Amino acid sequence: MSGKIALEEHVSTPRNNSVWDAAGEADRNGPDYMAEVDRRLLDVDDRVAEMDRCGIAITVLSLTSPGIQSILDPADAVAAARADNDFVKATYVDAYPDRFAWFAAVALQDPDQTAAELQRAVTSGAVGAMINGYTDLPGGEARYLDEPDNLPFWETAARLGVPVYLHPREPLLSQQRIYRGYESLIGSAWGFAHETATHAVRLMLSGLFDRFPDLQIIVGHLGEGLPLMLPRLEHRLRKQHAGIGLGQAQHPVGHYFRHNFYATTSGHFHTKGLLDAISELGSDRLLFSVDYPYEDMAEASSWFDNALLAEADRHKIGSTNAARLLGMTGA
Ligand code: ZN
Repeated sequence: MSGKIALEEHVSTPRNNSVWDAAGEADRNGPDYMAEVDRRLLDVDDRVAEMDRCGIAITVLSLTSPGIQSILDPADAVAAARADNDFVKATYVDAYPDRFAWFAAVALQDPDQTAAELQRAVTSGAVGAMINGYTDLPGGEARYLDEPDNLPFWETAARLGVPVYLHPREPLLSQQRIYRGYESLIGSAWGFAHETATHAVRLMLSGLFDRFPDLQIIVGHLGEGLPLMLPRLEHRLRKQHAGIGLGQAQHPVGHYFRHNFYATTSGHFHTKGLLDAISELGSDRLLFSVDYPYEDMAEASSWFDNALLAEADRHKIGSTNAARLLGMTGA
């Protein structure tokens, strides 16, 4: 399929590279694999050439995880988000305005400033924001996106009508005991999905979508397990906790999943999983993505282009759903 739009495609920046824990990343994720990823995170022209070979018309770029979310000092985080947004726009988007779009990086360490930065980024062309999970706070603490301090950010996202991509990151250090002795499970192979799915459920139970019913969240990796697990969650909350548990929500979790969430195919190229996600969310809420450069554009595209799907669904998932969600009228 030509004309695909991909939404979970990562870049780095000189600032981010300077704080990137290269040794730690290589240790956890494999030195050969990470050497190639590090090189390709800074691709510009080579990335476009690969998009051409794979039938990808547009990729939406975002700062690789954990990005801004791991910076402890709020003023540093705000300055880094601003600098990285300017870098991504100038280096990638301005070089290929018809091929690259971008999700803004935001610093939830200071939600008021983040609301202003989101407004500034969207005014200069960003199509939404990507957030790499919880925000680090001093003392090994963290803030999740449903917590009240984030309200100014959500008000701004809702007012601007832009989606927020909830991207994984590794669980907090204090919550990694279950992986001891099996450290390869901490990241994208396993821990990412558990961390992000739970984060998404917190949003559903918090009442956020009752306050902002049109707000749209994107999750990757065929929905981080939610299409399979949410029906059981909803069932058990109904049995044990009058439907919504101890949260503030007005509806069961499935209601918010179907009205406020999109899922992408990033890094999960499995047709049965895609069909399950379609059956839970509907084909209007699935979006093609690769997760470049952690995944191969060619592998993702050859799977998606040949998956046993109705052609109308392939077209929607590959292109028109994203064009509608992101306001890309010419795509
Ligand atoms: Zn990713």
